[in-house]
Amino acid sequence: MRTRYAPSPTGEPHIGNIRTALFAWLLARHHGGEFLLRIEDTDRARLVEGAAEAQMETLRWLGIDWDEGPDIRGSFAPYTQSERVDRYQSHAQQLIDTDWAYRCHCSPERLDDVRKEQQARKEPPRYDRFCRDLTAEERATKEGQPSVVRFKTPLTGETVTHDAIRGEMTFQNDTLDDFVLLKSDGYPTYHLAAIVDDHLMEITHVLRGEEWVSSLARHILIFRAFGWEPPVYAHVSTILGPDRAKLSKRHGAHAALTYRELGYLPEAIVNFLALLGWSLDDHTEIIDRETLIKHFSIERLLPNPAVFNAEKLEWMNGAYIRALSPQELAVRGRPYLEAGIGKAVDPGRLAEIVPLIQERIKLLTDVVEMADFFFAEGPLEYDASLLLGKRFAEEPEEARGGLGLVIAAAEGVSDWKHEALEVAIRPLAEGMGVKAGDLFGVVRVAVTGKTAAPPLFETMEVLGREVTLERLREAVGRLRSG
Ligand code: GLU
Repeated sequence: MRTRYAPSPTGEPHIGNIRTALFAWLLARHHGGEFLLRIEDTDRARLVEGAAEAQMETLRWLGIDWDEGPDIRGSFAPYTQSERVDRYQSHAQQLIDTDWAYRCHCSPERLDDVRKEQQARKEPPRYDRFCRDLTAEERATKEGQPSVVRFKTPLTGETVTHDAIRGEMTFQNDTLDDFVLLKSDGYPTYHLAAIVDDHLMEITHVLRGEEWVSSLARHILIFRAFGWEPPVYAHVSTILGPDRAKLSKRHGAHAALTYRELGYLPEAIVNFLALLGWSLDDHTEIIDRETLIKHFSIERLLPNPAVFNAEKLEWMNGAYIRALSPQELAVRGRPYLEAGIGKAVDPGRLAEIVPLIQERIKLLTDVVEMADFFFAEGPLEYDASLLLGKRFAEEPEEARGGLGLVIAAAEGVSDWKHEALEVAIRPLAEGMGVKAGDLFGVVRVAVTGKTAAPPLFETMEVLGREVTLERLREAVGRLRSG
């Protein structure tokens, strides 16, 4: 079993590409086979600098490792198509020699005219096969002129083949044109390059997007023209938005690496992508990598479109975050926190904080909002009105008095632990005749600078006596001056 992922470096990898890579990888890993990475960069006009690296970076991030590829030596190197052009040219020549292909010298202008005439007659535009049956003499006169190589598609009959997900597929040959194999710049089209490479690289199973179904007959014809056995094809389903429209940004879909920036865990992305068009059973959602590998099979790939659900992905990420050990979450969250607050964070300190926030975050980036105040130096930045909230908006004195009581009570706590702090502070609300939650609200803003934060007394414990009291006193000052 040998599978491949063959991206064209024409832009940032999106999740549809990566989902295909994942399926091909899972299939290879399930069967103990090889998974290889091939860069299909023969469309020179559409190349985007850095796109091949972005593909590799994404795969590495997700732990989709390849056994052969542009950056690894392998028996079938090179794995970048632009370095294999001579192979495509010799194979195109082989098809010319066996009368399966021919040189076409039609100028772009002529092709344009033909297309216009066909459109005027309401015919589907396609090459009119002008050069297909030139005589040897006619060809000789054009020798050396710019040309492309076209496939000599059978004019009649049908091409019957099989897709591992979709079953038997039949294509009428007269609906196909004499498509280009080799372009005038000497580079192959995808049709030629992919088939030659899938054969030479001994690919046994091709998993690719459903959009390639329409090219399948051409590819089978090329295989047969060479006398080669085609691999097993499986065209994986399209991914749609919840509104069943083509997946786009407005559905919350991003370029694959953007998910890393947004604070998604690679294991959550892998799990989520695996379920876009594949299922373990009819209900299991959280499936780890080992289980995916153990159970993956082409038989459970679904032909109908998969629906992308951004909320489900976020939920899943939260589930994976909760399943991490606190130590691991501290390690994973630290770079996000450091980027968010713009300074280095002591890992030991973060490890103390993590248990307070682990249940409350869905994204690693949430660590910033949930923990930045632990690392703030000097007075926190917040508006004094936040301290008062709705409850004390008209009664700042009461809030200030409440904070005074809290300070006095906290100062008396000798063992600075959340239990002791709660015992000391909770009863104060009753004495003031306010709800505990209202008093805690003021204290929360005073010590964290925000209205939503981790549990209050645990937070005070981790902040420590000195900082907590300093912030409480500072808040009193704000109410006085405000
Ligand atoms: N280079 C093609 C693409 O990026 C690959 C399709 C295939 O897997 O054969 O769509």
